[in-house]
Amino acid sequence: MKPMGALPREFAQQNGSLKISGRTADDWVAQAGDTPLFVYDMEIVAARIARFRAAMPAIDLHYAIKANPHAELLTAIARLVDGLDVASSGELAKAMIVKPAASISFAGPGKRDDELVAAITAGATLNVESEGEAARAFLIGDRLGHTPRMAVRVNPDIELRGSGMRMGGRASPFGVDAVRAAALVKVIVAAGADWRGFHIYAGSQALDAGAIVETQAATIALAGRLADEAGVAPPLVNLGGGFGVPYFAGDVALDVERVGEALADALASRPAVLGEARFAIELGRWLVAEAGVYLTRVVDVKQSQGETFVVVDGGLNHQLAASGNFGTVVRRNYPIAVAARMGQAPTETVSVVGPLCTPLDRLGDKIALPPVQVGELVAIFMAGAYGASASPSAFLGHPPAIEIVTAG
Ligand SMILES: *Cc1c(COP(=O)(O)O)cnc(C)c1O
Repeated sequence: MKPMGALPREFAQQNGSLKISGRTADDWVAQAGDTPLFVYDMEIVAARIARFRAAMPAIDLHYAIKANPHAELLTAIARLVDGLDVASSGELAKAMIVKPAASISFAGPGKRDDELVAAITAGATLNVESEGEAARAFLIGDRLGHTPRMAVRVNPDIELRGSGMRMGGRASPFGVDAVRAAALVKVIVAAGADWRGFHIYAGSQALDAGAIVETQAATIALAGRLADEAGVAPPLVNLGGGFGVPYFAGDVALDVERVGEALADALASRPAVLGEARFAIELGRWLVAEAGVYLTRVVDVKQSQGETFVVVDGGLNHQLAASGNFGTVVRRNYPIAVAARMGQAPTETVSVVGPLCTPLDRLGDKIALPPVQVGELVAIFMAGAYGASASPSAFLGHPPAIEIVTAG
C-alpha cells in the first residue's frame, strides 16, 4: 500500500455520501447528465479569498487564470478579486469579459505581435519580459496611437525556497534579469509609455510560510533597489505568489496568517521609494485547487497477478496532474475516495486507473479504499487547478469532461 494525500478540510469529516456544496455527488452527476465531471465549489473558493483578505494587509489580490479558466468560475472569481493575470490573448479575451482591462495584466515570454496589439488596444498592462518585447510594444503603440501600459517583469536573483517550480535565481526565459531591469524601466519611461511598476515572480507551490516570508521581504527590497536605480517610483509592485496547496501525504497546509503578519511588517518598513506603491499578490492554485472534485465512474474491477485494478471512465486526459505527469518528479497519490462511502474504513488495496491505453493513466497507485464496485463513483480531490485545461483532452479521443460550478 502507498499513502495518499489528505482530503481537503471541507470533505475530510464527511460520512456516507460525498456532498459538494450540500448536494451529493450522485446529484451533481444527474444534473450534468454523465461522467466524468468536474464540480467546482464556489463556496470553497470564496472562503479562500475571504481568508486571504483577513490574513493580509491592504494589498490587491489577483487571480492567475491559467490555474482554471472555466468561464463561469472566472465570472464568479472576478467579482471577488482585484485583478486577473493572463498569459495569452485567449486568456485576455476571457478575462476582458469579466473585468475591465485596467485590472488585467498580461505575462508570458512569447507574446506575438497580434497579442501585443490586443493588449495595447484594450489597455491591459503588459508584464514586459524582455527588451525586445518592449521595443515591439513601442512600435505597435505608435502605430495604433495608444500608449502601452507596461510593467517590467524581473527575473529576480531570489529563489522561492521549497517551491515546487523554481522560477527565479537562475537563467530564465521569464522576465529581465534584475541587473538589467532598471535600464529597461528608464527606456520605457523615456519612450513615453505608461510605466506600471514591477512584476516579480519567484516560484510556485510553496507550503513553507517561512520561505514565502523570506521571498516577499527580498522581493520588496529588490523592487526598492531597482526603483532607486531607475530613479522613478513604481505605481504597483506585484510580489508574485507561490502559495502552495497540500496534494500529498505529509504535506502541511500553508500558514497564510503567518505570511500576512510578516508582510504587514515588511510593508510597514518598506523602502521610501515604494512609499506610494500599491502591492499585489497573484494566486492560482491556492484559490481554486481544493474547490474542485473530479467524479468518475467505475467501469470495471479486475484482478491481475494478485493486484486489484479499479478502472474508471476518466483519466489523465482530464486530470493529468493526478496521474503524476504534470510538474512532479516522483509520482505520488492525490486524495481519492469512493463517493458513496465517505468515512468508511478501507478494506482493500487497489490501483485506480483510467481508460486510456497507456500505463501512465494511473490516478491512484496501490491505495487503500473501502469496497468499490462497477457503477460506483470515485472522487479525485484537489482537482480545481490545472485539471481540465491542463490535460491532453484530445489524447485517445474520449469526450471532454463536463464542468459545473456550484452557486457561491
Ligand atoms: C502560473 C503562474 C501563477 C499561478 O501559479 P500557482 O502556483 O497556480 O499559484 C502566477 N503567476 C505567474 C506569473 C504564473 O506563471
